[in-house]
Amino acid sequence: MSTAERNVSLDQEINPWEAQNARFDFAARKLNLEEGLWKLLRTPSRELIVHFPVSMDDGRIEMFTGYRVQHSIARGPCKGGIRYAPDVTLDEMRALASWMTWKCAVVNIPFGGAKGGVICDPHAMSKGELERMTRRYTSEIIEFIGPETDVPAPDMNTNEQTMAWIMDTYSMHARRTVTSVVTGKPVNIGGSRGRIEATGRGVMVACDECLRHLTLDRDSCRVVIQGFGNVGSNAARLMMEAGYKIVGIADKEGGLANPHGIDIHQLIGYKDRNQSILGFRGAEAVPSDELLVSECEILIPAATENVITSRNADKIKARVVVEGANGPTTAVADDILAEKRIFVVPDILANAGGVTASYFEWVQDRQGYFWKESQVNEQLETILRDSFDDVVRYAEAHNVNNRIAAYMLAIDRVAFTIRQRGIYA
Ligand code: NAD
Repeated sequence: MSTAERNVSLDQEINPWEAQNARFDFAARKLNLEEGLWKLLRTPSRELIVHFPVSMDDGRIEMFTGYRVQHSIARGPCKGGIRYAPDVTLDEMRALASWMTWKCAVVNIPFGGAKGGVICDPHAMSKGELERMTRRYTSEIIEFIGPETDVPAPDMNTNEQTMAWIMDTYSMHARRTVTSVVTGKPVNIGGSRGRIEATGRGVMVACDECLRHLTLDRDSCRVVIQGFGNVGSNAARLMMEAGYKIVGIADKEGGLANPHGIDIHQLIGYKDRNQSILGFRGAEAVPSDELLVSECEILIPAATENVITSRNADKIKARVVVEGANGPTTAVADDILAEKRIFVVPDILANAGGVTASYFEWVQDRQGYFWKESQVNEQLETILRDSFDDVVRYAEAHNVNNRIAAYMLAIDRVAFTIRQRGIYA
């Protein structure tokens, strides 16, 4: 079974929009999806590009470009993160928006998919510049977003402070406080308990389910994690606390390895103080790309896209890959991992803890009634365990890998809803 052409160029292989289309087409064909629905679901419904000015600290005016892409509102308002990075592209936004539609459908929550981003180098900007850029970007996309239409959340290089600025800007224009316009806010202003660590918690639940499914033992499980931001550091901490041995952490500037396990509490404190994991004394320095192909039972790519490609997939030694990041594996690499019989928990299932807790936050904001953290965690874990079972059973029943099973399950749910509603065409 092959999801992708093997002899594509690396540029094509790592284009996330091509990667999503390759999986979508394969899953749609397996489902015998009608041609009209196929065309409808392959195309994002709205794409907004904005160019806007920001006053920089030195008095200059700088122009920035931002995007918001909405893929589908069939099952509810759009939902999806906002990222700040120099290499944000429209194709990346399209892919991430589509993945959000499939992710929400896999965990069966009533949202469609969207994604937004601004081309910028957030690490070279002051807090004041970031605040002004966030507020102006929000005002440029203000007709596009709202609690009933499209609800942003944090993603790469954005956080609860960014969400607080967006909520405040939206509320200033609305002349009333509208907390449910974004999720991932500070708890004090309508955020949900448990949201910050929810994606990492979901990754851990996926790992637990893999162990159960493959009858592996947690105590003898060596784990390597790429990325030590929100997803990676929370997954690492929760998993260490649960008894997993984290033997490698690969971050942007370099990696760390310790066969006896890295003390993640100490490493989090170290990164907070130094803004980097380099120089941490509780582990040996190792190049990040070496860690990705090192000996371990579980590999968790939790940094960015396209880190497992045709260039390194055949060298991966992990028994299980649990995708904390969005799009870390290319379609060509999927086939190589399948040949090696590596058990992959795809991104649209493995990192769905974030959007699930975001759904809880949106519900709490609209009710004005806030849950205890234990309630958030319990409901999150139930949804993710059930979704894992759904995907693995679907894969077995249709003789496809977990990623294609997750796509098929999701496409089937969205298509069913559209057939019920009818197509206004
Ligand atoms: P983040 O900005 O908090 O952290 C990203 C981390 O990855 C940083 O530590 C950075 O140094 C590292 N990194 C970046 N490029 C790297 C590379 N090439 N090699 C090694 N390390 C690298 O971002 P995040 O919120 O943790 O998101 C990480 C991934 O998870 C993204 O793909 C994002 O879309 C996805 N995701 C995030 C959430 C969430 O709730 N934050 C939810 C679902 C999916």
